[in-house]
Amino acid sequence: AGTLYVVATPIGNLGDLSARAREVLASVDAICAEDTRHTRQLLGLLGVDRPLLALHEHNEAAMAARLVARLQAGEALALVSDAGTPLVSDPGYRLVREVRAAGLKVSPVPGACAAVAALSVAGLPSDRFCFEGFLPAKAGARRERLQALAGEMRTLVFYESAHRIVECLEDLVVLFGPDREAVLARELTKLFETVLGDTLGDIAERVRDDEDQRRGEFVLIVRGAADDTEARLREGQRLYAKLAEYLK
Ligand code: SAM
Repeated sequence: AGTLYVVATPIGNLGDLSARAREVLASVDAICAEDTRHTRQLLGLLGVDRPLLALHEHNEAAMAARLVARLQAGEALALVSDAGTPLVSDPGYRLVREVRAAGLKVSPVPGACAAVAALSVAGLPSDRFCFEGFLPAKAGARRERLQALAGEMRTLVFYESAHRIVECLEDLVVLFGPDREAVLARELTKLFETVLGDTLGDIAERVRDDEDQRRGEFVLIVRGAADDTEARLREGQRLYAKLAEYLK
């Protein structure tokens, strides 16, 4: 049986596509792509010409069965998304799941991922982090989500688009406070790459005041909530007092 290769593509700089990614893309029987026009352009730049199959949110379930059959027949397939690593805020999860469930091999060809690229330059704790991807588009749901995350102690990683970056930062300033440390990574690996710090308040102001800082693609990294050792100690003492009373 064949293998499904999950291949990362660049997030803005063509030079970030690995030699192995090019080799795999050139050798497979077909490439499943989120947007075939976009991927055809990329393949053109790489000098690769393989058949493309559209695989997106709406046809993924239906396509998965057909692709499993092709793999069972011995074909090699690749999965790519428009940018970065497939399945990371991108389609592919259902397909990978089905292929694995059929006992077939899924093999990664790793490369760029905007979240990891941003973490690698943010200078915020990165030994543990919480990838949140895109926040809900609607204001109410977004605020609810942020409220639920306000006490999270791990570093938080968000994806955001140019349409919503201002609103998102405004909500964060209200719900997390303006002094929470954060880094906004914009247009990574591209011509206008910028990495802004130091707090949510600063970043919100810079983005509000400078139209150029609102353009492009963003990863927002937010420091986790401070470890409230004091609060934990108090809670421990309260439980101990209750227990002591119970045992009396
Ligand atoms: N699969 C991709 C990955 O591995 O990063 C993410 C796909 S998601 C649909 C697109 C989002 O990723 C953008 O809205 C932005 O938040 C982030 N992103 C992608 N490329 C970026 C870049 N060059 N600089 C900053 N953020 C980027």
